[in-house]
Amino acid sequence: MLGATLLRNCSQLLLRVASSRPVVQFGSLTRARDYHHCSMELQLIVTRLHEMFPPSLAGNWDNVGLLVEPSSQEQPVSHIMMTNDLTEDVMDEVQAASPQVGLIVAYHPPIFKPLKSLTRRTAKERIILKAVESRIAIYSPHTAADSVYGGVNDWLAAGLGEGECTPLQPTPPSYEVRAEHVSSEMCEVMSDEVALCGGKLVKKLRDDSSYEVLVRCRLDRLSQVYTLLCGKLTSQNISISQVAKENTKGSGVGRKLLLNTPVSLSEFVVRVKNYLGLPSIRLARGRNCEDSFMVKSVAVCAGSGASVLCGVSADVYLTGEMSHHEVLDATSRGMSVILCEHSNTERGYLAKIKDNLQQALGSDIKISLSLKDHDPLITV
Ligand SMILES: [Zn+2]
Repeated sequence: MLGATLLRNCSQLLLRVASSRPVVQFGSLTRARDYHHCSMELQLIVTRLHEMFPPSLAGNWDNVGLLVEPSSQEQPVSHIMMTNDLTEDVMDEVQAASPQVGLIVAYHPPIFKPLKSLTRRTAKERIILKAVESRIAIYSPHTAADSVYGGVNDWLAAGLGEGECTPLQPTPPSYEVRAEHVSSEMCEVMSDEVALCGGKLVKKLRDDSSYEVLVRCRLDRLSQVYTLLCGKLTSQNISISQVAKENTKGSGVGRKLLLNTPVSLSEFVVRVKNYLGLPSIRLARGRNCEDSFMVKSVAVCAGSGASVLCGVSADVYLTGEMSHHEVLDATSRGMSVILCEHSNTERGYLAKIKDNLQQALGSDIKISLSLKDHDPLITV
């Protein structure tokens, strides 16, 4: 997870073009959800990624999905490279890779705060420029992968011992807003606006060549989506229904693991280090907790977990990073805290995405894990 900065409007992503034209909208970046210019293969991969990590599960503040798309596809994608963080070192690795990388799956979104320029001034801008110039697409699953059943938090909890694992904050039920007899042009117009409301528009072709439109969104965005559709579709009937809860079963923010067999704190620490392949981790013992304290419950949040774990009752908090005062607050309430550094709690999950994606796409496409991607913090 990154901080909860709002990214309200992708159209703020502007390219300042030298002197002659003051500011223009950078179409291929802002129209990230408009797939009709993709080759079939990129579209197919994006569809599979959306199925694996439904964007509707992502945080409202997040920026997930296809973030960079080539204006045209000269060749289908033959190589996907996966990374936790798309740094300049990883981008160099991507550009040197063979066969040529056509898609980067970056767990953290390389475009998060709206960019106001694409120059060589900052690493973030240089990375996006290189992707665009090399016709490389970028996809980020981020908090959709955190929330989904079987996602990064389930992966993290799976290494801690057998037990019952449930979301700390289950995904609230989704709603579907439905309208018929919508023109193709209107679907295009509405698609991006719906996405900005945190919804997802799906269109189905009808016998009369018009479309049935379905927009799925959460309850807190329902009124916004409904108002948008009513404003655009003045003559169509618009209906609302609740989506069956099975679609979001097991998904949500963070996880709480109740161990079938309690384990001592010292043994639990060894278990975490072994699972994540780390020589050392940081431990803050809860007040009155010795190494022999028997751990029965663990609250898990990959990445930066303080906002999710705050107030949760568990023997141990396991996350990547927390501030000094957040740790003190937890230990004063008797909770022990284990910090593994931010991306160390996420990176191992990439191998699972790789395997699942390879299975979904078949063996013709090469999928590799970046060798340059690593947590920036090391113990010295
Ligand atoms: Zn993270």
